[in-house]
Amino acid sequence: MADRFLRFKRGKSSRDVDRVLGFLVRSCYRNIPVYRRLLDERRVQPNEIRSVADLPRLPIVEREKLFRDAPIRDRIHAHASIPHCVRAATSGSTGFPLDIYMSRGEAIYRRALLLSAWRRYGPLPLPLRVVDVGSWVQGTSGVDIKRRTAASIVRISIALPVERQIDLLAQHRPHVVSGYPTALEILAEGLRDFSAALSPRLVAARGELLHETTRRTIEGAFGSRVADFYNCEEIGNVAWECPRDPTILHVHTDACLVEIVDREGNPLPSGAEGQVLVTNLYNRTMPFVRYALHDRGILYPPSKGRCACGSRSPRMAVLSGRDDDYVHLPSGRRVSPRLVATAVTRAFDPLAQERGVERFFWKFQVVQDAIDHLTIRIVPDVDHGLAFDEILGPALRGLDPGLRCTVNLVDALSYEPSGKFKKVIQAIPGRAAGSPS
Ligand SMILES: [Zn+2]
Repeated sequence: MADRFLRFKRGKSSRDVDRVLGFLVRSCYRNIPVYRRLLDERRVQPNEIRSVADLPRLPIVEREKLFRDAPIRDRIHAHASIPHCVRAATSGSTGFPLDIYMSRGEAIYRRALLLSAWRRYGPLPLPLRVVDVGSWVQGTSGVDIKRRTAASIVRISIALPVERQIDLLAQHRPHVVSGYPTALEILAEGLRDFSAALSPRLVAARGELLHETTRRTIEGAFGSRVADFYNCEEIGNVAWECPRDPTILHVHTDACLVEIVDREGNPLPSGAEGQVLVTNLYNRTMPFVRYALHDRGILYPPSKGRCACGSRSPRMAVLSGRDDDYVHLPSGRRVSPRLVATAVTRAFDPLAQERGVERFFWKFQVVQDAIDHLTIRIVPDVDHGLAFDEILGPALRGLDPGLRCTVNLVDALSYEPSGKFKKVIQAIPGRAAGSPS
């Protein structure tokens, strides 16, 4: 099979993975200016990368450093036609918002891999009905329905009242419900008063750490199997929960490579905690090679033979990252941190479009310091002369009319004493983070 098609093979052998990696690195160098610069700086010739063992010779790709000042044309394949690309946007809730581009073929492969990960927990019917509870849906209805041959996908915005979200679930009777654990937990609490049988085959948690108490709440309310998926927009499904052991994840080896490295980017021995790097094995339109996800995790020592679940793929755990606090609105409603983080980034979209810029800032943090007040810390890009308060005020009042905000322009954001970064911090005096409303 030609190298350029090998990336779409299912069940890649380690030899296949080496070939795909070599192909992607050569393609990056030839076709994508930001990668060519990066490799030149490191004095690495693309032909030197022949196998996974050569990966540590490549620099770590930081979203902010690599993509921040580069125009879109410098980040995607020279022959890619932007209007024909499928675009996915990172929510910006875990770091800095970024648009991801892929070809239609790459997007189909990515969806097929996610479906195969969902199928690890039992058979799923086709066409599959999926409801995804997400942080943003275009338009005013808060609902987006896509019908494809293999599946119908209904996206529901977490901005909708919980009762409306439950109505939509009951209406679409999904086989799979997927969403952020914080959004699913709020939904689960609403479901306790709901008598209709929902019982999807699978509840797929993604995008945030899934804590054990949250898992139990969701499992109890839905009466369904809950499984954790380590997903990101840059890859799709990075790893899926072992069906036999919920404390470990299996790396989705058809989608990506996972490395655990220290602060300097040196590979760590298995079992040691470090930062998670991923390499996308199928996207050559906008490749991600040794890309830092800003999560911390471990890769377990290789097991002899198969795992108890039958899989041979590497086992890992994600230990921290994507663990923000709930926000409590003046109305008494508790909302997912994803909703608030997305409201902040999207508030600037119309103005960015009008001025033809991609964004006005990369880094921000939301601190709830009173029930009716948020402090938004923003590290601005350059002086765009924006009245941040005037833009953010109405956007946040859209979540709750009683919500006020103050914008602080800062040089740097604050980290937890543990060194972990939280994008949304609940700091109402006397209220523990994450406590129920
Ligand atoms: Zn397993």
